[in-house]
Amino acid sequence: MGTGHGGVQTGNALRRAGWVGPITLVGAEKHLPYQRPPLSKSCADAEALDDLALFHPAAHYDSVGVDLELGAQVVGIDRDGSEVELHSGRRLAYDHLVLALGSRPRPVPVAGCGLAGVHTLRTLDDARWISARLRTAGSVVLVGGGFIGLELATVAARLGKRVTVVEAAPRLLHGAVTPVTGQFLTERHTAAGVRLRLGEAVDRITGVDGAVRSVLTASGDELSADLVVVCVGAVPNCELARAAGLPVDDGILVDYDLVTADPAISAIGDCARFPYGNRRVRLSSVQNAFDGATHVARRLTSGAGGYAPVPWFWSDQAGVKVQMAGLPTALHGGLGSGPEEQLDVEGDVAGGSFSVHRYVDGRFVGGESVGMPRAHLAMRRRLAAERASAVPLAG
Ligand SMILES: Cc1cc2nc3c(=O)[nH]c(=O)nc-3n(C[C@H](O)[C@H](O)[C@H](O)COP(=O)(O)OP(=O)(O)OC[C@H]3O[C@@H](n4cnc5c(N)ncnc54)[C@H](O)[C@@H]3O)c2cc1C
Repeated sequence: MGTGHGGVQTGNALRRAGWVGPITLVGAEKHLPYQRPPLSKSCADAEALDDLALFHPAAHYDSVGVDLELGAQVVGIDRDGSEVELHSGRRLAYDHLVLALGSRPRPVPVAGCGLAGVHTLRTLDDARWISARLRTAGSVVLVGGGFIGLELATVAARLGKRVTVVEAAPRLLHGAVTPVTGQFLTERHTAAGVRLRLGEAVDRITGVDGAVRSVLTASGDELSADLVVVCVGAVPNCELARAAGLPVDDGILVDYDLVTADPAISAIGDCARFPYGNRRVRLSSVQNAFDGATHVARRLTSGAGGYAPVPWFWSDQAGVKVQMAGLPTALHGGLGSGPEEQLDVEGDVAGGSFSVHRYVDGRFVGGESVGMPRAHLAMRRRLAAERASAVPLAG
C-alpha cells in the first residue's frame, strides 16, 4: 500500500527478484506514481515538474506486470481475512501486505493556518498550487528552516521574491547537519537575499477577507506575506496499522527484517520505525524507502534477512548540493542529550567545497559534504564497511 518511493520500488524489486505472483500498488492519490524531491527543488516550473517527478510512464507498470489502483484510499486492514478495504467499499485480498504509507506535514498549532495562501508541501498537487501562487506572490514566508523550507526559499529567492524563513531553533537544519554546514548555509542563503529569522517562533498568521496578509512572530514582528508555506516536519501515517492492532510508536514498529508484529505485513519507508544498532529509528529519505523496499523484496523471494542500511540524504539549496551520510546529528541520542560529536573539517568552507566528518568517541558516525561528491561516496563506503562488521541487535 502506497505509491511513493517505497511502494514503486517494492513492485520493481519483486519483479527483478523473480516474484511471479500478482502485485498490486494501491495509492490514495490519483496521479501516476511520482517522486517527491523535485517538488521543493523545481516547483518554479509546474509543467516541467510533472515530467521531472514521474517515476515511470503508465506503460512501465503493464510491462512489468504491476497493477495500479490509483485514487484508492485504504480505510481498513482486515488481518483475519487477509484483505484491505478501500474507501469505495471494495476489498482486495493479500498474501503479503507492504505498508509504504509515507508521512504527512506536521501541523503547526498557530492561528491562521486555514487562510487562503497558507499551505504545506507533500504532494504533487501541493507543489502545483505553490508553483501557481509563486507566480503572483511578492512576499513569501517559510515557516521552518529545514530541508523543504530552505529548498523552497532558494526557489522563491531565485524568482526575485522577498523571502523570509522563520525558524524556532537557533540555527538552520538544527539536528540535521553539523554547525559547520548550518553556518555555511546561513551565509549562503543570506547572500542570496533570503531573510533568516532564527530562534524566532511564529505567534500567528493574520489575514484579510480570508486571505493571508502577514506572519506575526513571538517577538512581535510582522512579516508581510502573500504566500506562507509551513514546513515544520512530518508525522508518519500509522493510523491504519494502529487500528489493525499493530504496535505503533512514532512509526509502525518493525523488526530487523522490516516485518511488523504480523508476519504477513511489512512496513517500510517514512511510516516505519526499525532497529538500527542499539536504537530504533524512523528515517524520511528516498534512500530508506528504496533500500527498505529492496530488502522486503529480497526477503520475500529468497528469505535473506537483516536490514542494515547506510543512511544518506541530499538537498539542493542556496546554489549548492549538500550530501549527508549516516544518521542525522539529532538521532545520536536525541537533541542535546546525545554524546558530543567531534568534527573533522576538510576543504574550503568559505569557497563552498568541503566535507565534515563526524566522530563519537573516536568512531566515525557520518558526515556532510558540499561540492565534494567523492567525499560523500567515501563516507557511505566507510559506514557500509563498519555496518558489515557490526553485530546486529535483535529487533
Ligand atoms: C517536498 C519534498 C522533498 C523531498 N526531498 C528529498 C530529498 O531531496 N532527498 C531525500 O532523500 N528525500 C527527500 N524527501 C523525502 C522523501 O520523498 C520521502 O522520504 C519518501 O518519499 C518516502 O517514501 P515512502 O514510500 O515511504 O512514502 P511516500 O513517498 O510519501 O508515499 C506514501 C504513499 O502512500 C499513500 N497513502 C498514504 N495513506 C494511504 C492510504 N490510507 N491508502 C492509500 N494510499 C495511502 C500516499 O498517498 C503516498 O502516495 C522529500 C520529501 C518531500 C515532501
